[in-house]
Amino acid sequence: MPTTTRALSVPSAGAPFEAIDLERRDLRDDDVRIDIAFAGICHSDIHTVRDEWGAAHYPIVTGHEIAGTVSAVGDGVTRYKVGDRVGVGCLVDSCTECEQCKNGNEQFCTQGSVGTYNSQNYDGEWAAGGYSQQIVVTERMVLSIPEGIELDEAAPLLCAGITTYSPLKRWGAGPGRKVAVVGVGGLGHMAVKLAAAMGAEVTTLSRSSAKADDAKALGSSNHIATSDTDAMKAARATFDLIINTVSADLDMETYVRLLRPHGALVNVGLPPSKLSIRPGALIGGNKVLTGSNIGGIPETQEMLDFCAEHGIGATIETLDASDTTTVDTAYDKVVAGDVRYRYVIDTATIPSA
Ligand code: NAP
Ligand code: ZN
Repeated sequence: MPTTTRALSVPSAGAPFEAIDLERRDLRDDDVRIDIAFAGICHSDIHTVRDEWGAAHYPIVTGHEIAGTVSAVGDGVTRYKVGDRVGVGCLVDSCTECEQCKNGNEQFCTQGSVGTYNSQNYDGEWAAGGYSQQIVVTERMVLSIPEGIELDEAAPLLCAGITTYSPLKRWGAGPGRKVAVVGVGGLGHMAVKLAAAMGAEVTTLSRSSAKADDAKALGSSNHIATSDTDAMKAARATFDLIINTVSADLDMETYVRLLRPHGALVNVGLPPSKLSIRPGALIGGNKVLTGSNIGGIPETQEMLDFCAEHGIGATIETLDASDTTTVDTAYDKVVAGDVRYRYVIDTATIPSA
């Protein structure tokens, strides 16, 4: 029998959250039912429900930073048992058969992977995300949360953690490498913690100095306010790697100028607008301008294990959602850059419909 669970849903673009009863499918053989404890608020949730990317399908239950405990398993499940501490990120299914899935890059599944929300399952049903008290997901897309990371601090790792870990690793963040992180928000603060744990020298770039002390506590050894033109000039040609996490438009040439020859600027921030850059800005110095999309399931588990080994969790503010307008207000605060550094919904507080 399907189960009914409490969830927070946005019925149409611009509408506030409302509490709903959500039906979760009956367990298939390979399914795990998770009692969700915490769900992080990612800026992608906001871009989606505000229809900034287009293609939003309402009603939407957002949330792809999910941490909780297994409460039931299908007959064929082998990887998890009731009581296990688990997480779900941005993916809830993929074809398993294409080259990308076989290589552990499920986010690039050639059949089209299934996102945790605003995405249709292979049977045509619309997926509903983590602002909810339960979710049912194939065990292949479920991650194990190691002991030592609290569930609330683990939830944001499932998107903000993997989205920054993957390009840091891919582009060689480590000892002797200078890494800049642009934007100290949900993704940015994780990029700082992870790059520092990998042994890189980290500089944070933020619109002002307001987050300078926090950035140092997170692991940055130098903080630049991007409004300080002298400091920006002095930083030219100094970084091997720049991770841009900003959710709004930035002038790419300004930031490419900060790279050393052969350096790479990786965009993970996803504003809807186009990037613009003159080829000469890249050609002078053989610079790389690229992007990075979350990470596959094996790398997400690797990231969680890395975090446990290095004592890393997200820095969070926990939200009580019993008054659902708290979540609407939290969205406005995220957009204003006014969160230290990730909101996490305590799903036990989601009210009845
Ligand atoms: P967030 O917490 O809102 O952080 C974004 C940061 O960008 C802010 O803290 C702020 O940093 C800076 N910022 C915001 N508005 C700005 C503006 N107008 N000008 C300059 N800087 C500005 O968001 P998030 O959850 O980290 O997500 C960041 C972006 O990554 C979003 O676009 C999201 O959709 C995207 N994303 C991409 C992936 C992927 O797979 N590539 C995965 C998840 C999220 P300061 O206050 O320090 O200036
Ligand atoms: Zn996200």
